[in-house]
Amino acid sequence: MNILITGGLGYIGSHTTLDFLLNTDHHIVIVDNCSNSDISTLEKIRAISKQNVSFNEASVGDHDLIIEIMKSENIDAVIHFAAAKSVAQSLQQPHFYYENNVSSLMALLNAARSCNVKHFIFSSSATVYSDTNQFPVDEDGVLGYINPYGQTKLIGEDILLREHRQSGLNIVILRYFNPIGNESTGQLGDQLTSSATNIMPMLYRALQQNKPFFIFGDNYPTEDGTAIRDYIHVNDLASAHRNALNYLYNEPGSHIFNVGLGKGISVLDLVNSFNRVNHVDIEIKYQQRRAGDLPMCLADTKKIKIQLGWQAKKGLDDMCRDAFTFFNNHYR
Ligand code: NAD
Repeated sequence: MNILITGGLGYIGSHTTLDFLLNTDHHIVIVDNCSNSDISTLEKIRAISKQNVSFNEASVGDHDLIIEIMKSENIDAVIHFAAAKSVAQSLQQPHFYYENNVSSLMALLNAARSCNVKHFIFSSSATVYSDTNQFPVDEDGVLGYINPYGQTKLIGEDILLREHRQSGLNIVILRYFNPIGNESTGQLGDQLTSSATNIMPMLYRALQQNKPFFIFGDNYPTEDGTAIRDYIHVNDLASAHRNALNYLYNEPGSHIFNVGLGKGISVLDLVNSFNRVNHVDIEIKYQQRRAGDLPMCLADTKKIKIQLGWQAKKGLDDMCRDAFTFFNNHYR
């Protein structure tokens, strides 16, 4: 199979590309415009996998160029990661999010239709679930959004479901919960930009700057008072794409799956684990709850276990150790 991975140099895309190179015989073609990644990641993927991978520096919205790539590489399936992903940035620049995440998806789907692509996997997010749900939430939970980023994911899902009905494109929508961690050699990882608002980059920044780490909210109705999230190791998330594509070949149609650990981890547990496994001592301080943060966000993972035969294997300590190794290798 010839698979186009959009955003394949990004955090989740690079781990998934590596997973496919190490575990399948598929030919992988990456398209990435490097807006939130570095070209050096390509060499790292090639070095770890000892395999070649085609790369095109391009935007997925560049319809004609994408058609050219799909035709010349004879693409059968697309795994679409390329998108902007910051909630905060989406509030400041909503139009950029509609353009980059929605218009680009439509251009990509037009190209896929012209080139007779059969299979499509879409990176969605737990943000598509309304805060009115009880957690753990299954795939039939109530949908909603509270920021433009979440809205683009919800619109993306809708566009894909319509595309399936109209053109017969086979689709899997994966709703990721909270991916963290890195592959264990410590070479691939998330960008430690000053605007990164994910928990691991923020923890490492606190360590680097010898500053306390602020946990937002210590009075949630949870055991230790801090919010509970469903953290999943990015290697586990990457392998779910392989299961999803295999499934799609055997069960054409449209499918939606939650991808999470299916187990709640409190923010305090995570920071304690990070300190313990990495032998560091980041001081913890508490701030008021952040607007929009839920006490708990947790995946019901029964469907993906039963239908895809997929289950996360790595635990919290692996996530904390691997994240630290990557940041320490690159940003110390
Ligand atoms: P990332 O920013 O690390 O990777 C995205 C990659 O896509 C980057 O390499 C970027 O340069 C590229 N890109 C962005 N816009 C592009 C465009 N128009 N054309 C070509 N390349 C483009 O993000 P990530 O964390 O790897 O996330 C991947 C996908 O998963 C995104 O769709 C994101 O919304 C979704 N997701 C991420 C998380 C998370 O916590 N990281 C959670 C849920 C869903």
